[in-house]
Amino acid sequence: MLPDVWKRYFSEELARRDQAKLTRKLRSLRHMGSTKVQIGSHEFLNFSSNDYLGLTGDLRIAEAAASAAGRFGWGTAASRLVTGSSTLHTKLEGEVAAFRGTEAALLFGSGYQANLGVISALVGSGDTVLSDEMNHASIVAGCKLSGATVRVFKHRNCDDLERHLNGVKKGRVLVVTDSLFSVEGEAADLPRIVKLCERFNALLLVDDAHANACLGKRGRGILEIQGVNGQVPIVIGNFSKALGSYGGFVACDEMVRDYLVNHSRPFIYTTSIPIALAAANLEALKIVRREGDALRQKLATNTAFARTKLESAGFELTGNYHIIGIHASSPDEALFLGSEVEQHGVLVHPMRWPTVPEGQNCLRVSITAAHTEDDINRLAEALKKARNSISRKKTDGLTRRVSRRPTEQQLEMMTAPPVDDFDDFENLPGEAMMSAADSSRLPPPEQVAEFSEDAALPASGDTMIAEQGFPGNDKPTAPVEKTSEQAPDDGPVPESAIETPTAPVEEEIQEELPIDEPEQALPPVEAGGSGATLAPEAMELADPVIAEIEGGTRKRQRKTAKHKKSEN
Ligand code: PMP
Repeated sequence: MLPDVWKRYFSEELARRDQAKLTRKLRSLRHMGSTKVQIGSHEFLNFSSNDYLGLTGDLRIAEAAASAAGRFGWGTAASRLVTGSSTLHTKLEGEVAAFRGTEAALLFGSGYQANLGVISALVGSGDTVLSDEMNHASIVAGCKLSGATVRVFKHRNCDDLERHLNGVKKGRVLVVTDSLFSVEGEAADLPRIVKLCERFNALLLVDDAHANACLGKRGRGILEIQGVNGQVPIVIGNFSKALGSYGGFVACDEMVRDYLVNHSRPFIYTTSIPIALAAANLEALKIVRREGDALRQKLATNTAFARTKLESAGFELTGNYHIIGIHASSPDEALFLGSEVEQHGVLVHPMRWPTVPEGQNCLRVSITAAHTEDDINRLAEALKKARNSISRKKTDGLTRRVSRRPTEQQLEMMTAPPVDDFDDFENLPGEAMMSAADSSRLPPPEQVAEFSEDAALPASGDTMIAEQGFPGNDKPTAPVEKTSEQAPDDGPVPESAIETPTAPVEEEIQEELPIDEPEQALPPVEAGGSGATLAPEAMELADPVIAEIEGGTRKRQRKTAKHKKSEN
């Protein structure tokens, strides 16, 4: 039972979000290969995923996971430093290091955990982190968790970074930036950041999540494109975007890896990823090693085609790569465009304050190698139709504002600076300071009316990049005291390849549950990735396990019951 005081708290907070039209709702989607999803009975073309190489629908990855799960089971039941470190985890780390061109790599449960675990281990109280104001929420969270002084430099502004570097008087300095920013698709100026870090003896961490495997000649992302691979000591990446799988990693020197194994609490105190996931990630890397050139070429061709198409239709675009921001003049317009496009069977994400700075509302479109020219034509047509209905329905007057307000990222970053650092916060847009706890609160009801004007339309699919943060209170946070952990050594683990696939699990299940005819015949979806053979909707409907999970028909249930009875 929830205590009354908590019940009241939850219902008031939810009501405030509702009043402000900022409530987010989860939807249940049925994934149908790389580019299509089904919501209810409707099928949509997906331009909102991070499946940049179209590998999420690649059966080879799914099969690698299935065969490893059949052999080793699913759970690992212990952290890496206890008994959760398998030969496949170690093998995957070796493959990641080879792929990224570093000495070593270390796995994390996700990209989010990698940022948390690496940043919080590298710096602590008395140190300084300099972080781009548009960095991903997981970087923001890692900075906060570290207990270091956090200073935010202006987005992609190396002059401002230099000013901050000049201002640090004591302690070690870590500079953190995304390589390819996830909303507007612009890249950081890494060569200049590398030089600044060298000059000031600062350590550089680059999160290459949106470029890993899908940009650069060898898939080494923006670092490769900008010619600084090998000059960035710490690179964060993940398997959940272009690699079509799940999990995170840091690519670095052996010494840094050893340090992290001994100091990173989010690494030490969590269960290792499933061995089957490591197998899937190995397969994804293998595919990208063999077919990456062709897939990256396809992605580049699709990106160029989409950009030309949209620009010639008069849309104002941001970025140069596969993430395309389409400018919207207000938060309402972003939402309206998003929902109108959806009416035409296409999914794109509206991004609005407080996820992005005020005035930078946009639709985030992500292009993948699995999209076809037809798909992109449909996207452009849907956007044009949406824009036409906007001009009919002009929502002027809803977007006027009194002052510029901080984004969620900025609010999250604004921990209490030491008194002598105060100047550094003056230039931040939407200057404000607040604690993590305070920033998670919505403004008092009397302020809600003011900004509810900004979002008069339903927030159906708005992305939440950083979760919380609303103006309302200005109490600073007490810095978190940093502790360092010593943990026992991770013993040497023999390397071994994945063994010949056996599929005992599948076979057993097939014996137990006879396969039904699919009830709805949906057209097959073209698979992503060059070698894929996946027509997932057909496979799912024919698969007795999936059918059961999704709530099979009475007929199926009757059959199963009959089958079970005859077994007893
Ligand atoms: N870094 C960046 C730049 C991201 O955009 C994301 C997620 N979108 C992450 C890290 C987190 O990665 P994951 O989804 O693997 O947790």
